[in-house]
Amino acid sequence: MNPASTPILAYHMHADLDKILIDRERIARRVAELADEISHDLRDITARDELVIVSVLTGSIIFLADLIRRLPQKLRIELVGVESYPGRATESRGPKITRSLAGNIEGRHVLIVDDILDSGGTMRLIRGELAKRRPKSVRACVLLRKERPSAMETPCDYVGFDIPDVFVVGYGLDYNNYYRTLPDIGTLKEDAL
Ligand code: 5GP
Ligand code: MG
Repeated sequence: MNPASTPILAYHMHADLDKILIDRERIARRVAELADEISHDLRDITARDELVIVSVLTGSIIFLADLIRRLPQKLRIELVGVESYPGRATESRGPKITRSLAGNIEGRHVLIVDDILDSGGTMRLIRGELAKRRPKSVRACVLLRKERPSAMETPCDYVGFDIPDVFVVGYGLDYNNYYRTLPDIGTLKEDAL
């Protein structure tokens, strides 16, 4: 990594990291590939019908912002809130909807965008909620997927990276609501937890 291009904020947080798993350059390359794949796959659909991106707060905000700016089609964004790791938890407590979908998705094509597939509970919950609103189709995209059966078995159309089953922070992912602004993805030192 080039220290001259690293913001000072990131330096502070890097001191709490045990290891960088995926650095910002790799993330950027993969996000661009995902965007190309998605816009290629959806080109016929979006020529006729409307695409709505449903993104899951808060972990997906950075990924969402980078991904959608590489999608050339005209589309809408909807946000849903799901919380599964309240505060200092590093294991899912079971997902709960904290902000429900406000817009209409009936008869529209939906792409769910989330940060990470872990137990798959969040994805199942969102898909269930969306299905009640009769979308025309639902696809899903996550930046990260943990190499554990529950994640690998959860249907998902687009996956950025498969990572080991460890707790990660950065690029939107938090611990106790910190580290979301770190541009790289990594694991925390024991004493930062
Ligand atoms: P799932 O419902 O699939 O178990 O977990 C999905 C949600 O839990 C993700 O959207 C994310 O917010 C949170 N999560 C899962 N694994 C991690 C992790 O390793 N680090 C962080 N910061 N959040 C995680
Ligand atoms: Mg989340």
